[in-house]
Order: sequence, then structure tokens, then C-alpha cells
Amino acid sequence: MQLRDSITALKGVGEQVGRKLNKLGIFTLQDMIEHYPREYEDRRKITPLVEMELDTPINILVVVASTPQVTRKGNHILVTFRVKDATGSIFVTFYGQAYMKNKFSVGERFLMYGKIKRQYGKVEMDSPEYQKVTDVNKIGEVAKITPIYPATQKLSQKVIRGLILQSLDAVEEEIVDPIPENIRKQYDLIPKSEAVHQIHFPSNSESFFAARKRLVFEELFMLQLSLYQLKADFAKKLLGVSHKVTKELSDFMATLPFELTDAQKRVMREIVGDMKSPYAMNRLIQGDVGSGKTVIAAISLFIAVKDGFQGALMAPTEVLVVQHYEFLKEIMEPFGIEVGLITGSTTAKQKRELIARAKAGELHVLVGTHALIEDPVEMPNLGLVITDEQHRFGVRQRLKLTEKGTVPDVMVMTATPIPRTLALILYGDMDISIIDELPPGRQPIKTNAVDSNYHERIYRFIEKQVHEGRQCYIICPMVEENEKMSELKNVIEYTAQLQVEQFPHIPMGYLHGKMKPKEKNMIMTQFASGEIKILVSTTVVEVGVNVPNATIIVIENAERFGLAQLHQLRGRVGRGKHQSYCILVSDSKSKVTKKRLQIMEESTDGFIIAETDLKLRGPGEFFGTKQHGLPEMKIANLYTDAKALKEVQKCVKLLLEIDPSLSFEENNKLLDEMKRRLNQESLHNAL
Ligand code: ADP
Ligand code: MG
Repeated sequence: MQLRDSITALKGVGEQVGRKLNKLGIFTLQDMIEHYPREYEDRRKITPLVEMELDTPINILVVVASTPQVTRKGNHILVTFRVKDATGSIFVTFYGQAYMKNKFSVGERFLMYGKIKRQYGKVEMDSPEYQKVTDVNKIGEVAKITPIYPATQKLSQKVIRGLILQSLDAVEEEIVDPIPENIRKQYDLIPKSEAVHQIHFPSNSESFFAARKRLVFEELFMLQLSLYQLKADFAKKLLGVSHKVTKELSDFMATLPFELTDAQKRVMREIVGDMKSPYAMNRLIQGDVGSGKTVIAAISLFIAVKDGFQGALMAPTEVLVVQHYEFLKEIMEPFGIEVGLITGSTTAKQKRELIARAKAGELHVLVGTHALIEDPVEMPNLGLVITDEQHRFGVRQRLKLTEKGTVPDVMVMTATPIPRTLALILYGDMDISIIDELPPGRQPIKTNAVDSNYHERIYRFIEKQVHEGRQCYIICPMVEENEKMSELKNVIEYTAQLQVEQFPHIPMGYLHGKMKPKEKNMIMTQFASGEIKILVSTTVVEVGVNVPNATIIVIENAERFGLAQLHQLRGRVGRGKHQSYCILVSDSKSKVTKKRLQIMEESTDGFIIAETDLKLRGPGEFFGTKQHGLPEMKIANLYTDAKALKEVQKCVKLLLEIDPSLSFEENNKLLDEMKRRLNQESLHNAL
């Protein structure tokens, strides 16, 4: 058998089991053996019955002492029999599995693993895992460190274990080691096939650690390598645009309603440096919520346009796109710059018109959502492309856009506060600028975590603020009443209820993801202009929206959100001169939740919040699995394996300095593996 063979080649995998495995992302034998354990149970120790403890899982080695009996208790079928070892005897019971009676005969020896309970005066082991032992001298082959696998889709651990064992038997010989031998030696890494075997069935803790080290190294190694190649890919095409800065820039700056902060000025200098250079810019602008990224985008676009080029600005949500469009239009039109808007709701006719104007060079800046990328708009003179809040886009889309036309400068703006070390990995292909300062005069947002008993007080507080002229967001997580989420508050119902019971005289509106973009924009416009005072919304307002007069944000079911998301949401307020408030409502009793919400109360620094959240939850959950657009980690933890990562980074860099195209024979397998993993057009072309 081969690694890429389908799992249906395995014994015991028919259509039904196959489908369950598919749901776990397992399609091939390779996937199967890369389905690594979540944790392990040490079942090497065998406990004599005389030493057993109740309610803790133990391993016992026993002989069947009575014929299994089938009985009924209410609706349940029970199979019960007695087992014994040299020191004592207990009962074993299986529930709802009548066929179990045929599996055990008096005198046979079994290794059983489970919890022992005292029930109805009987001491019994409940539905244990069991394995027949024919040769007691080989007990070491059965009593082992035992893997526990993640998310089993109603597949028992025993079944998964069996399938993995079967797969390993079939393809262990086929496993290719992509890490070149010299590197393996240098970093003291065991061969891959051994590592794969040991990660599933470790003989002892040393061999487990050796296996993990090996597999983590490889995973990080491949990640780094892909990122460096991506960067090289950019670097190769760098017949970029060299922008000149015209003197109109200072006139433009003078019309802005504020002076740039020092951080903004520094970042602007870095951007201008890139724009002037003959090489294409590929820069990530990182700045906490409210640090003023939009104006940076505006200035950069101004420079590009005044130098005779066109620019594009993309954002993930329609609401945000419209807001950017209006802002840019307002400040740029006086300087003769034409700004166009293209979104999902732009009609075909309007689009044709926009395209014609863009082609003719009459349109200088285009603002849009994904529609901009999906449906190529030809801008013959595209010199600068900016994506706002890129964690929604991911690497691939970034590439797609830059492949269009000439090689424009590329700038990505994100508010996701990623600790520096991680940013270097996740955006290893980009240069990074950080806006680490908020505009002056901002009062820190006051944050409180409360339970739902406080609702009455919250409503009265909102009322008071609205009477003083301020506005308020209320965030509910989901819109549809579906079974599982029934306890979540429905935005529409909740709005209606609040309108009737709490705020009969205050204009309210609601916003959710299933609304037509046009409706969303209308509501947002009304909120921005102050017509709507209280906006009830799902997380669609999460990214970027700017209404400085809003001073309260209430977040219901706060425990359902990641801290990064809460921080983003909170960033919707505190954007003007008034004191702002964030109220996190949660009835969760979980300790971790309480701790997480407490961090929100104590800190308004996105980086601190991100770092703490990573510690409490791990990076997968923090980023949301699909959001960063990078391959998911199967075994490495980008946070706790930071040290390994540094080593790997050094190692990869050196490798690429010596053999940048991986053309040496010793790196053949590495190149193959790389192509297999990063199934990306541009990368393949580059290699
Ligand atoms: P974000 O970085 O979250 O995208 P925005 O660009 O939306 O932040 O800016 C937040 C608010 O701060 C806006 O109202 C903007 O006009 C204002 N702002 C930006 N830069 C400055 C500055 N240097 N001085 C004062 N206010 C500023
Ligand atoms: Mg923004």
C-alpha cells in the first residue's frame, strides 16, 4: 500500500466508517498516520485487585471466572460476569451490548482498563476496554502507554487505534524523511518513520519526547520554508513601482483634522521609503484598534495617485468598505482624486462603468470587498494595493491580488495584536511596521465583566448616556435560532423586546450577517449620523467600524468570544473625546472564562491581551482556525514551541542561503514534500 491510498484500503473501513474519518479530515493513509494523539494514558502499570482504588481508571490483568449472564434493567440490556486475579475478584458489566457475552469465556485471560465503581452493593468495572492476553510473558506488548485521539465522531478510541496500527503496518516503510540527513544529525533528530511510530505508540517517555521533537521540527521547518519561498517569490518579481512624493502632499496633510502621532509619522516614513524604492513594497502595518490606520492608508494612496498611479483599498466587510469609501472621497476629492466603490451589491452595469473609467484612467482609487479580487477589475496603472484587516483574508488571496497586472506595492493593515515572535512567522514573507501609540486625548475605556443580573442597571445606564447625546452598541453572538444555540439571544427578537420594554422612546436598529449589504449600509449610515442611538448587532461590526460618538458597548454571552475578538469589539468605542464603557455580560462559571474576562477588565493593550489569551487557550483558538490562512499545525504549538521555532528559522535561513532553489540532491525530498504541502500555483512557478 502507499501513503496516498484511500483509507478504504484498510480492513474495517467501509462506507460508514470512511465517512466518519473523512469528517475528521482523514482521507488517505497519510492522513491516518498523521492523526496524532491528543494525549496519552500510561497503562504500563497493572494494578492487583487488592490495591484497586474506586473511580480512578486502572489496568487489571484478570481471568474470566464466570459465564457472562445477560439481564435487563429497565430498558437496558446488561452483560455481567465475574473476573479475578491472584489477589481478589470483581464484576465486569457492559451496557446495551448483548453480543459481549460471546467475547468472554471462563478461564481466558484479559487485560482490562476502566474505572471501578461500587454499584448496588457490587464492586464492578464498567464497560472496560479489554484485550485478550494469550502469553503473560509478553504482557509488555499489551500493557503500554496508550494514545488518546482527538474528536472521534463516534468512532471509539479502540477502533481508531486499530486503524492507525493497521496503517502503520502497511505504510511505515513508505514514509519518506524530507529533512536532509546533515540537518537531522546536527539537531539530533530521529528518523521520521520511527518518530511517527513512537508518537502513536511511545515505548517510554524519552522516546515520546524524541518523537515529538522530531515531528515539531519538521512541521515548523516546512512552515518556515514555505514562508521564505513566498518571500523569495515576491522578491523575484520586484520590478516594482518607484513612486515620487509630490509637494501637494503637505497641502493634503494640512487639510487633515489632526496631526499624526509620532508612531504614525514613523510608520509613514517606513512606507514612503518602500514606495520610493524601485522594489515592490510588501509591508504589514500592525496597529491596535483605534491607533489610526485608515489615515495611513489614505496618505499612501494620495502619494501613489499624485505620482500618476492608481490605488486599491480592500476591506473584509461591506460596512467597512463603505465607510472607507466615504472617508477617502471626502478628503481626496478636493484634490481632484476620483474614488470609486465596488462591492457585492454593485450591479453589473455599474461595474462595467467603473471598469471603463478605471481603464481610461479617470478613476484613481477603488475601494471594495472581495468582489474586487474575485472579479478582476483592470486598473492599467495600479501602483498600490492596500488590504485592511487582513486576518480575514489569508495568504492565498493576498497572492491572488498581487498577481494581477504590473507589480504594485502591497500593504496589509491588521489590528490583530500578534506577539512579535508570532508575527514574524505568520507574516514571515512581509516587512512589519507597528503603530504602537494611540492618538492623544483618548480616555481609556472602562471595562466591567458582570452577570445577567445586571441587565436592569445596564439598561438604565444606556438610557442616561443616550440622553446625554451618546450612542450604544449591543452585541449578541448569533442571529438564527438553531437548536444548539437556542440560548443565544436572537438579534431581531432582542431588539424588539428592548424597544418595547426598555427603550420605547429611543431610536434603535439592528444589524446581522444575513442582511443584504444595502440594508446593512443603510443601518450603519443611520447609526453613524446619529439617527439610530442604540445598535443591536452580531459581530459584523467587529472590524474597523468608526463611530466616535458611540460610548458604550455591551457584549452579551461574552464567554463565546475569543479575547482578540472582544478586544476588537471593544475598540468600536473610545474613538472620540468622551469617556467610553465596555460591559461584558456572562453567566459562565468557568474559571478560565472568569480569568479571561478579568484580563479584559485589567488591560486595554491588545498585545498583552493576545499574549495572555494564547497562554490560556493556545494559538489555534486564539486565531480562529481558518482565519490566518496558514496551514494548520498538526503537532507544533506556535506559542509553546517558540524556542524550537527560532532554531528552525536559523536552520532554514542557512539552508536557503546555500541552496536557494533546493536543487542539491540532498534536498530533493525536501523539495518534493514542499510541493506536496503547499499546493500553490505561484509557488510551483517560482520553484
Ligand atoms: P484603526 O486603526 O482602528 O483603523 P481608525 O483609522 O479608524 O483606527 O482611527 C480611529 C479614530 O482616530 C478615527 O476617528 C480617526 O479619525 C482618529 N485619528 C486617527 N489618527 C489620529 C491622530 N493622529 N490624532 C487624532 N485622531 C486621530
Ligand atoms: Mg481600521
